[in-house]
Amino acid sequence: MARSDIFHPDYKPRPYWWEAYEPTAGALADAPKESRVAIVGGGYAGLAAALEFAKLGVDAVVLERGLPGIGASTRNGGSVSGGVNIGKSFSGRAAEVSQERADALLADAADAFSLIERLIEDEHIECFWQKRGRFVGAWTPTHYAAQEKRLEGLNDAAQSGAYMVSRAKQRAEIASDYYHGGMVVERSASLHPALYYKGLLDACRRHGARICAEAAVERIAPLNGAGWRVMTSRGTVIAGDVVIATNGYTGTVTPELRRRVVPIASHIIATEELPGELAASLIPKRRSISDTKRVLCYYRLSPDGKRVVFGGRARFTPANPELCAKVLYGYMTARFPQLKGVRVTHSWTGNTAFTLDALPHMGEEGGLHYALGCNGSGVAMMTYLGTQTARKIARVANAACAFDGPEFPDHPLYTGNPWFLPLVGGWYRMRDRLDRLMA
Ligand SMILES: Cc1cc2nc3c(=O)[nH]c(=O)nc-3n(C[C@H](O)[C@H](O)[C@H](O)COP(=O)(O)OP(=O)(O)OC[C@H]3O[C@@H](n4cnc5c(N)ncnc54)[C@H](O)[C@@H]3O)c2cc1C
Repeated sequence: MARSDIFHPDYKPRPYWWEAYEPTAGALADAPKESRVAIVGGGYAGLAAALEFAKLGVDAVVLERGLPGIGASTRNGGSVSGGVNIGKSFSGRAAEVSQERADALLADAADAFSLIERLIEDEHIECFWQKRGRFVGAWTPTHYAAQEKRLEGLNDAAQSGAYMVSRAKQRAEIASDYYHGGMVVERSASLHPALYYKGLLDACRRHGARICAEAAVERIAPLNGAGWRVMTSRGTVIAGDVVIATNGYTGTVTPELRRRVVPIASHIIATEELPGELAASLIPKRRSISDTKRVLCYYRLSPDGKRVVFGGRARFTPANPELCAKVLYGYMTARFPQLKGVRVTHSWTGNTAFTLDALPHMGEEGGLHYALGCNGSGVAMMTYLGTQTARKIARVANAACAFDGPEFPDHPLYTGNPWFLPLVGGWYRMRDRLDRLMA
């Protein structure tokens, strides 16, 4: 099959998830003149904060530049982890933190998993929540040994139910010999990201939270007394507190935060429906899969078990969906040669936000609250950080969140324009190849 023939006649350059729920504006309301809290950004973090405020009886409004859900929150892979990715930079390098801090971060990441599970149950969100675990394939024997070293920490601090699977037994996890064994993390799940988003949005509306679509925040200025004047394309809001929840779409409105997050694009394809036996054979336990490569891939079956949804960093920057689809198709068939000839029905892209210390953050910068930096893994984490930020502002948090703190590193040479990403991407691809050659 020529590479240009990979596309199904019904191919669409948009998320497969939008077949079930597509972001819409709803009834457009102007921004209110006043609100106790203004939340900038209407993804999982912004909505989770709004929902928590509503439950606590605190008046808050979400100001979303585009259609609610138009950011990463209806575009992601839908794999939900309880900490296995915490502290991994976009190069796969581990964050440099003390053992004590690492344990606290892992414990909170495990709480993030519990929180999303509870939220889905409490709010009756129908989003194909499936607790089937994750398999993280080791790219080299050295990576396998490194995974083995992390097991104890993951199990002690995050009750991950993690264990190693040797290369000889790997086919019980995945119909591929691509990896040198890997790690299973039982305490992981998958969901339908757009239906989860819809469920959160419905819950916000049910609980009385206000969501303003197409209300781009253009300027945030301090008031003379306390509080902020938040100027949007749909009017100005006077707010006591402001929460920035813009993650991989953080822009020039908050330059001090923009310099602390590196937006990195991630791309996904979905295949056409596969013959039943083929689909069932690929990932027999229906786990989510990811790997230890620097330029990693993540993939799973669709919630109905009929398609492969395959993601990765085809490019590190936003790029033409057809071009990315061809690159991802190559990555997919390298892992599953049996999928050669299968056609792609959807391909799409979205932004994640990486931080310079490889950790998600909540805190305060210049008086503005923020929940930012999913580092590629934010379905549970950004829901959690949004909720924790709301609890902190409402002063009902029992203890400080481990991700909360003043240290949110920047770099003197980085101002928010990641011009270097194509170079970094090429370098990491080469390092991946060298790692394998030298293994
Ligand atoms: C392709 C892809 C695959 C992924 N796969 C996974 C996965 O499998 N598992 C996982 O855990 N995570 C995954 N992630 C990460 C996850 O999707 C994100 O961490 C999460 O959705 C971030 O939520 P958020 O609310 O912080 O940001 P977003 O959902 O990105 O929302 C930010 C919002 O801010 C808005 N905004 C920006 N500026 C302004 C402004 N000035 N005024 C008003 N609004 C503004 C944007 O329009 C946007 O809607 C993936 C991400 C991508 C892109």
